Amino acid sequence: MNSKKKYRVTICTLISAIVILTITAVFANEMTFSREEFCNLIIETLEKSSVIDDTVSARQHFSDTYNPNVQKAYEIGIIQGNEKGEFHPEKEISSQDAAVILKRLQDYIAPQLIYDTAKEKKGKEWEKIKGYAASSIAFLSMTDVIPNGAFHPEEPLEEGTARAMIEKIFENRDSQPMAKPGVLPKRKVPVLMYHVIGNPPSEKSPYGYLCVSPEAFDQQMKYLKQQGYTFLFPNEIYYADSCHKPIIVTFDDGYDNNYYWAYRIAKKYNAKITIYMVGDYLDKPGYLSSVQLREMTQSRIVNIGSHTMSHKDLSLLSRQELKYEFEESKRKLEQAVGKEITDISYPFGKFSAAVIEEAKKYYKSAFTVLQEIPGSAFGYARIVIPRGMDIPGLQANLSKFQ
Ligand SMILES: [Zn+2]
Repeated sequence: MNSKKKYRVTICTLISAIVILTITAVFANEMTFSREEFCNLIIETLEKSSVIDDTVSARQHFSDTYNPNVQKAYEIGIIQGNEKGEFHPEKEISSQDAAVILKRLQDYIAPQLIYDTAKEKKGKEWEKIKGYAASSIAFLSMTDVIPNGAFHPEEPLEEGTARAMIEKIFENRDSQPMAKPGVLPKRKVPVLMYHVIGNPPSEKSPYGYLCVSPEAFDQQMKYLKQQGYTFLFPNEIYYADSCHKPIIVTFDDGYDNNYYWAYRIAKKYNAKITIYMVGDYLDKPGYLSSVQLREMTQSRIVNIGSHTMSHKDLSLLSRQELKYEFEESKRKLEQAVGKEITDISYPFGKFSAAVIEEAKKYYKSAFTVLQEIPGSAFGYARIVIPRGMDIPGLQANLSKFQ
């Protein structure tokens, strides 16, 4: 081989090497992230920004990994395994699975962040989003973590996208609207009160007027959504001054049809609702179960409040009895949902000065029915939505608040 030829071969080898390297690099860039790598990135970011320190040690173990970062992410609630404690860390992660995890990260570093449905941005591929991911994706798009229109829920997550979204969560955390439990806004917020979503056993039954049909409830939520209402939880009421058409939707007593209908319909419209549960009714036939409460709470669509322990007229009780009604129901419900219970509604809307004084020791706010104490977060009236109220009826009630 002469030197010229040798030179040419070397050049060719070099060029092919460069081409191969470039292809590999491009391919590597497009290569997707495993669930484990995603957890590593999240935990490393949390440690680097001192949100957690690196000594956090996992107490709960996944059955399918020994990676300490995956275990840490599990321990602090950023990821959740299935019922067998499996997470399948080696599997590729889809963009919508990642969004659910990122929403939990956002909750972890800014837990009082308000979900303002009026600011939701729905991309072109919204139809492809699975139910479990819908509220997470809506929240992340509202807070600009998910770029508008450029999110492909079913596609695998790319490393670059993952990094950009995590960065955005940290960047945004101090500039987002935050809840201030117990602080009232300047404006008056309509609070709707429901009980049963379903039909009464007979049209003559005494509480039949409190049974709203699923069709009517669906129509009402659809109307509110179309009108651009922002659904708030009671501990977010302060934010009402800076959001578009604020509204709070509540349910008293904790009937199991709230899970079958109210929750299902609320998810459909991404409408936040609050259910005031009676402690003694938990896990009883006809009422909500602990499992249902936890599932609904984790969806971020439902907030659970207390409706006391035994549903008595509070204005007739002694201090000792009041303490039990407030303290015990809070303890029992917190254990069921795995989250702090910050608000209560008084049974029959009945209260007294002593009731308020005692309630303030355990809660941040309390709803009544019709009776009201202006300017107090512990005597806030609600609008009763009776069976048969049509959209013009609802409109008439809401028009007083604009
Ligand atoms: Zn009640």
